[in-house]
Amino acid sequence: RLAYVNGSFVPHAHAVIHIEDRGNQFSDAVYEVWGVIDGELTDFDGHLKRLDRSLSELRIRRPMTDKALASILFRMVEVNRIRNGLIYLQISRGTARRDHVFPTDTVPPSIMITAKSMSPEKAEARAQKGIAVITQKDIRWGRRDIKTVSLLPNALAKQAAKEAGAAECWMIDPDGFITEGSAANAWIVTKDGVLVTRPATNDILNGITRRIIFDLASREGLTFEERAFTRDEALAAREAFITSATSFLTPVVEIDGNPVGNGHPGSLSLQLRKSYVATAKERSRK
Ligand code: PMP
Repeated sequence: RLAYVNGSFVPHAHAVIHIEDRGNQFSDAVYEVWGVIDGELTDFDGHLKRLDRSLSELRIRRPMTDKALASILFRMVEVNRIRNGLIYLQISRGTARRDHVFPTDTVPPSIMITAKSMSPEKAEARAQKGIAVITQKDIRWGRRDIKTVSLLPNALAKQAAKEAGAAECWMIDPDGFITEGSAANAWIVTKDGVLVTRPATNDILNGITRRIIFDLASREGLTFEERAFTRDEALAAREAFITSATSFLTPVVEIDGNPVGNGHPGSLSLQLRKSYVATAKERSRK
């Protein structure tokens, strides 16, 4: 297995970043995750664009052109022989003696990339069965739209879910509305068959998969609404699901121990998951 670190492809076991990297000390880094389906990076441009946005919001320099970066990402898929899985990319503000203030422009950003294979069969079986989620207070900062590696609240939430026998944790804002999952966007389908997910403000990460689902829903003549929904509304929903680049669309069949709908994956959820996978090729770049 090969990783990419600051200009070189190196064996994963020897891939290291300096102890004074700002990603390590201050979470001063952003990341991006591309799903790989059948050997191709899905929604390539969307993720690259969001990476650019995350970098500019934090004023971290781009380490290279998009073209150069693209060729490294494709190479990572190739050399690691990823058929299905993900490519993880992280860019920090660089390595410098610890100081909260940004280093000078002479310090280059650090870049690291890893690849991981995932079993599509296992993911599919999980989706057909549906997952349980728990809910917890959202304790994250005010710029969740930036994909930073500052993921401690997300890790705590996911761990709490695991310990409760669930697969995700939906987080709740001070007004009682669900923001999103620890690593995925949250959706419900109302009794009237309307897809509902929270608007992409600073409160959530604007998922690339989330936007693909909007496109697919439109194509299939489904109605959707971008608005916040409460836990109670989710409990009364006909269907619920999560979306992310690595899980695509996964039905939620239980919230805090209560069944969603009839306790089985919803038909619209499964239909959209199928469309997502079926159209992955047309959204990919080799
Ligand atoms: N919200 C959070 C907090 C996430 O970590 C993710 C996964 N990166 C998402 C939403 C879904 O985003 P995407 O569809 O772009 O993977």
